Amino acid sequence: MYSVRDMNCGCGIPVARRTSWTHENPGRKFVACKFYNAETGQRGCNKFEWLDEDIVDWQRDVTNVLIDEKHRLATDNSILKSRIVFAEHENKRLVEEVEKLKQKKKRQQPTDVVLNKDKPGVSIIVVSVIVSVIISLLFIKIFV
Ligand SMILES: [Zn+2]
Repeated sequence: MYSVRDMNCGCGIPVARRTSWTHENPGRKFVACKFYNAETGQRGCNKFEWLDEDIVDWQRDVTNVLIDEKHRLATDNSILKSRIVFAEHENKRLVEEVEKLKQKKKRQQPTDVVLNKDKPGVSIIVVSVIVSVIISLLFIKIFV
């Protein structure tokens, strides 16, 4: 058996070793003229030769199912990758927002301390409660 490396096409140059990914011949190896362009259909010469045996129907079907699955997984993968990029961006934004809020809180704290020191609302409530308890006790003494 001769080596593929020694094989030349009609153009006198070494052949190109390729794998077919057509629906009819998925995964089959072949050699062909290096100048063959699948998109334009142009070729240097007509050299083309399968390197392996023809595949049977079940092999073709299984391979095509696997190829479809691979494409589906690749699509899922790229969707997940873009979600990760978005989540990382969102995470960074939230971390920055938390940091801004912390800085804002630090700046506001001295004002809070002053407000807490006075606590005018609390003292009014305490006085009101004491007064209402005294009034209630007086009413109880008067009417009971
Ligand atoms: Zn050629």
